[in-house]
Amino acid sequence: MPSDAADDWLARRDQIIGLGERSFRKSYYPQLRQNIDRLERFRTLLDHTSDFVILLALPEGLVADANAALGRLLGEPADALIGRPFESLGIAEASAMLDALRREMPGPPGDRETPSHSIAFEFGPPGACICLELSYCLAVVDERYYGVLVGRDVTERRRNEEMVAALLAEKEALLDNALVGIVMLRNRQIVSCNRRFEDIFGYGPGAMIGLSMRALIPSEEAYILAGEAAYGAFGHNMSVGDSLLMVKADGSSFWAEATGRALDPARPQEGSIWIFTDISERKAAEERATYLAYYDVLTGLPNRSLVQDRMLQAAAVADASGRKVALLMVDLDRFKTINDTLGHSVGDQLLVEVAKRLKLCLRESDTLCRQGGDEFLILLPGLPDAEACVTHLARLTEGLAQPFSLKALELEVTVSMGIAIYPDDGTDLGTLLKKADMAMFRAKDAGRNTHRFFNEEMNEEAEERLAMHFNLRRALDAGQFVLHYQPQIEIASGLLVGAEALLRWNHPDLGLVSPARFIPQAEESGLIVPIGEWVLRVACREAANWQRLGMRDVVVAVNLSALQFRRGDIEASVTRALDESGLDPALLELELTESILIHDTEKVLATVMRLKHMGIRLSIDDFGTGYSSLAYLKRFRVDKLKIDQSFIRDLASDPDDAAIVRAVIQMARSLGLRTIAEGVESQQVLDHLRLYRCDEAQGYLLSRPVPVADFVAAYRQARATS
Ligand code: C2E
Ligand code: MG
Ligand code: MG
Repeated sequence: MPSDAADDWLARRDQIIGLGERSFRKSYYPQLRQNIDRLERFRTLLDHTSDFVILLALPEGLVADANAALGRLLGEPADALIGRPFESLGIAEASAMLDALRREMPGPPGDRETPSHSIAFEFGPPGACICLELSYCLAVVDERYYGVLVGRDVTERRRNEEMVAALLAEKEALLDNALVGIVMLRNRQIVSCNRRFEDIFGYGPGAMIGLSMRALIPSEEAYILAGEAAYGAFGHNMSVGDSLLMVKADGSSFWAEATGRALDPARPQEGSIWIFTDISERKAAEERATYLAYYDVLTGLPNRSLVQDRMLQAAAVADASGRKVALLMVDLDRFKTINDTLGHSVGDQLLVEVAKRLKLCLRESDTLCRQGGDEFLILLPGLPDAEACVTHLARLTEGLAQPFSLKALELEVTVSMGIAIYPDDGTDLGTLLKKADMAMFRAKDAGRNTHRFFNEEMNEEAEERLAMHFNLRRALDAGQFVLHYQPQIEIASGLLVGAEALLRWNHPDLGLVSPARFIPQAEESGLIVPIGEWVLRVACREAANWQRLGMRDVVVAVNLSALQFRRGDIEASVTRALDESGLDPALLELELTESILIHDTEKVLATVMRLKHMGIRLSIDDFGTGYSSLAYLKRFRVDKLKIDQSFIRDLASDPDDAAIVRAVIQMARSLGLRTIAEGVESQQVLDHLRLYRCDEAQGYLLSRPVPVADFVAAYRQARATS
């Protein structure tokens, strides 16, 4: 209390006491004294509270009383305020408060409940203003209206509240803008989570609260496993971290990395905090990186890093089995010219096509990789010896023989190859690469389009074998192949019913070369496929011509190689040959060997069935030498069995052969198949066959295989004499 106000009060108190003493000394004094003491205590209490209290006389709105706190607030003694209009105190909301109080006071004052109001406002000059909170209500004292206002400075509290709100907002912003999903779980249910967590899982704001983690894990099993792992670790006061497959709101799944920690390791169920990151992109990037590290983008082939791995594996297998591994360095000849003249896009395309072709020539176990530029590396594991590599070389050369058609361009591609052999030339990839590279350069020096072994001796051996292959290729291109025809007669009537087309190589130096000498090589290198196609075309063309020459119903029999079934498109070749020649399919007979039928049976069966559907006849060549099985003869709906000449030759003198041949003929009859005996060289044999009721015969006795002109002439002569 300011001192002059206190003095004033003391003076007034003495005055009152004096009055009282004089007037009511005897009877009222004690009571008065008590009241005054109470009032004094109350006054002291009021003046010592930090809240300020104002009593307003209503309806005038004058300050009837105020405590010291208000005086302090306004910087004036409280007493100086008494009698002043409330609205003059500088409180902005004063009029509004007065209006509210005045509105509540109509009617005679009595004991009635009046509402308490509360208002908060700023007070003071800008910059130094404080925040006041004020509650006020109407009061009635001695039938007069008063407004009782109690206020306090809440600046500090306000500031604290604002700070807490700002801190919370900051935290929330921090959580929501975090690049990781954050979630708090209780009993594996989501208690709270940040926005990123909802985004990762594709849920709307707040939609995940209360959700069980089961909804985010694809299977019950995975859910149980994840739980066991987490609680196991939490129990040991450890955090967990794992990549998990999770489910989004739309049901799609993705990979997430989750790390979690229990709030209280003793009671992990009660709460754990988890951080989730969507690692799908990282996983994809990792896969891509692995791909890039191991594969060539242009051709999709593995690059050298993978060859290193494969080489190690191949070497281990080779060491254990005593086998060899060949490393081939393949370089395209004159690729730079193609690139420079036709452009890089053609160059790139050519590399892609070359890669595809090379791949087709290799086995499943081989590795083809792009070493860079126009260089390819080939790893051939499991070779019984170094020479075995030659077959593969021939296949590769053959595979590249056809020109490449790119953007209406026909490009001929040749390659130079260098070969190093594990373990003969080296035991590590580095050494083998160096040697294969040196050998490749020697191939280039030798005029390109060839190969060189690192080991010179190997070159000589391979030379001979490969020479055959290249000669055969040249023979086909230069038209050195011819077909000879060997008549087939019906034994009962003696009539010519067909002819077998037999391949001959009309070698410029060697003369006619027997197929027995070159067909195995042609099969080895795959060259039999184009050669076989050629045979089909020529045989059909000539047989169609026989029809025009009046040689009615003479069937042409063509030998097929197993490789034509496996590697070539035999159906397309046959269809083309028939279409081109116009030959009636019923006049074409295909000679298959038993080995064709037992290999990859289902696929061959389907092909054979389609050929049969076209009306073509089928016979089994060299019957009796293979794995004859009645079951597949029936399944493949063969028309004819061609009994192998080894049983026929000595038929007349060898009772065993005779027994076999008789049995085969009888069996064939019971299956409804025709029989033909090949290699019939004597009349005696033919007589026996007639006795056994063999249907047809073919052999030197009747005719050797002859050029087509001779065959036609012989037919005409036979007709003329019969
Ligand atoms: P093959 O299909 O069993 O042909 C019968 C072979 O026996 C032919 O030998 C034929 O000249 C020979 N020959 C015929 N009658 C007699 C005889 O009375 N006595 C003797 N000792 N031999 C006889 P060729 O023409 O040397 O053919 C050998 C094999 O070459 C053929 O055996 C066949 O497997 C294969 N071949 C021939 N031409 C082709 C062809 O165009 N494509 C395929 N893939 N293989 C063919
Ligand atoms: Mg034959
Ligand atoms: Mg035969």
